[in-house]
Amino acid sequence: MARINLLSPRLANQIAAGEVVERPASVVKELLENSLDAEATQLDVDIEQGGVRRMKIRDNGRGIVKDDLSLAMSRHATSKISTLDDLEAVQTLGFRGEALASISSVSRMHLTSKAYGEDEAWRVEAEGKDMTTAVRPASHPDGTTIEVRDLFFNTPARRKFLRTEKTEFNHLEEVVKRLALSRYDVGFRLSHNGKQVYDLRPVTDQLHAEHRLGTLLGKKFIENALTIDVEAAGLRLWGWIGLPTFSRSQADLQYFFVNGRVVRDKLVAHAVRQAYRDVLYNGRHPTFVLYLELDPATVDVNVHPTKHEVRFRDGRLVHDFLFSRIHKVIADVRPESGEAPTQ
Ligand code: ADP
Ligand code: MG
Repeated sequence: MARINLLSPRLANQIAAGEVVERPASVVKELLENSLDAEATQLDVDIEQGGVRRMKIRDNGRGIVKDDLSLAMSRHATSKISTLDDLEAVQTLGFRGEALASISSVSRMHLTSKAYGEDEAWRVEAEGKDMTTAVRPASHPDGTTIEVRDLFFNTPARRKFLRTEKTEFNHLEEVVKRLALSRYDVGFRLSHNGKQVYDLRPVTDQLHAEHRLGTLLGKKFIENALTIDVEAAGLRLWGWIGLPTFSRSQADLQYFFVNGRVVRDKLVAHAVRQAYRDVLYNGRHPTFVLYLELDPATVDVNVHPTKHEVRFRDGRLVHDFLFSRIHKVIADVRPESGEAPTQ
């Protein structure tokens, strides 16, 4: 029998990375979520070669003080929760303390940050098998920049699963899109191979929010969508739902956010499908951008490391609320406007 030995920090992190770092898009998701958690109001994302060559994410958030930089890079280190009670009511996008350690174990990554109120900026990277951190003086305005180069250069098995530059960039753009749809008050800039893809200004009113929706999802959607904003039993649902006539052959224009977090949830999908059941032909899919807000203590986000799934404490209540409210909006519009499906 082989003897038992402790994995090196890098190897342990690489194994953990398997769960959260699937492709460049997952890196961008984790880093942008960190920036949003740090209360950034402007996010700049510069990508080269679909993200495989290089990803640079810059924010103007709170930053990290020098003495915390090494910790930030290690696993199970987070500023977001400290007790189980905190986890139960977590409002930040992150809380597992794994992203930076995971990403830096499978790429060449460095982080530069200047915390609010500090005079100096510092740069940190984790080196070698032990991922020892080196902290050096740097120059940076308030906020944080993270540069990730050569993703999976040291994990060939993972690298093999990467697709073409275009495919990887499409996934990455989808991540930025979802986050841009989750925070209208934050500016997002995205560029690929030196070319600007979009520059979304922060917005506070409905008109400009719809402009952002048009930029991200196409003007057709917003021209064919109804607004909804209803509240009952501690639940609020707001957003846009596409007219039945604007259905699609694929479920590719469906965005659902729970307390600002994009989720893919069976219960939600079922409720929406039911609401459209009478007005859509078989095989057609509704379009929507919907936001559900509820007491964070009544929804568990710690179901999967990527946090795409949630569990509602009262699933029945959520399902019935979604179904009845969406159904009502659709039913209301049909008689007067004559916008019944014509396909
Ligand atoms: P988590 O987000 O789960 O806490 P991460 O590994 O993603 O874990 O980040 C570790 C810690 O580093 C965070 O808790 C936060 O304190 C800090 N951090 C990471 N990114 C940023 C950022 N862009 N701005 C400020 N602090 C950050
Ligand atoms: Mg994080």
